[in-house]
Amino acid sequence: MTLNVGAHVSISGSKTSGDDESPPSDGVDNAVWRQRNVGGNCGQIFTHSPQVWQSPDVEDDEAEAFRAESDTHDIGPWVIHTSYLVNLCTPKEGLREKSRESMQEEVEAAHKLGIPYVNVHLGAHTGAGVEQGLENAAAVIDSLDVPDDVTILIESDAGSGTKLGGDFEHLATVLELADTDLDICLDTAHAFAAGYDLSTPEGVADTLAELDDVVGLEHLKYVHLNDSKHECGTNKDEHAHIGDGHIGDEGFEAFLNHEAIRDVPLALETPTEDGRSYEWNIQHVKELRDEE
Ligand SMILES: [Zn+2]
Ligand SMILES: [Zn+2]
Repeated sequence: MTLNVGAHVSISGSKTSGDDESPPSDGVDNAVWRQRNVGGNCGQIFTHSPQVWQSPDVEDDEAEAFRAESDTHDIGPWVIHTSYLVNLCTPKEGLREKSRESMQEEVEAAHKLGIPYVNVHLGAHTGAGVEQGLENAAAVIDSLDVPDDVTILIESDAGSGTKLGGDFEHLATVLELADTDLDICLDTAHAFAAGYDLSTPEGVADTLAELDDVVGLEHLKYVHLNDSKHECGTNKDEHAHIGDGHIGDEGFEAFLNHEAIRDVPLALETPTEDGRSYEWNIQHVKELRDEE
């Protein structure tokens, strides 16, 4: 299997960074063009600004162009990352309802775009307790009408404050409690911050063995590949360029070549600083991965 790696790219029709030439259209299909520009062959998008409550606004012709372009250039699988405001664990009725509505719109947008995955953070229980928070999350998910060709992925979290999903047990519990078929996305920076050491070959082997034990590797459908600016177990979520953070090249080399990871698509959410782009990070991942 060839290496499936790409970046989180913008769908915007306007320039989003200094080195971005003018995109070809004003639609979602710009994401495909951006992915090709950075040398990726899969990847992630937001359907709207993730900092606000907003509905995805995908016209039929845009969706068609997105599917056609992805197909032509053999780019996929894609994943939609939901809004950061979504909180599946919340005990607050109003926030739960908004989260539910937002999730429903995202799974419908995914269906329209031919995107198989919608990635979500569990959110914070804000005092309700871990058990209640996980029950809330499963209940919200089960209240959705998820199209057959779309799967919700629960993303592993850095586990700060009352946020859930830092512990692999949390992911397993939601998968167990929900009647809806769910899978997971492992974010390497989050897992590391949550206390899973990925900086050495032994740490990588132990972490993936534990993930297999607790959740089951058959549920691992995507990886967010990020290095971490903070040390293991700090619960601090700040992404670094691959190899530049506390996970480092040794950790990533072991991770990328581990048999549990070799066939899993990887999406980078690395920073755009120090003059290092997604292109640099994708190239670096290719260097760290052994040829077949
Ligand atoms: Zn995320
Ligand atoms: Zn992530």
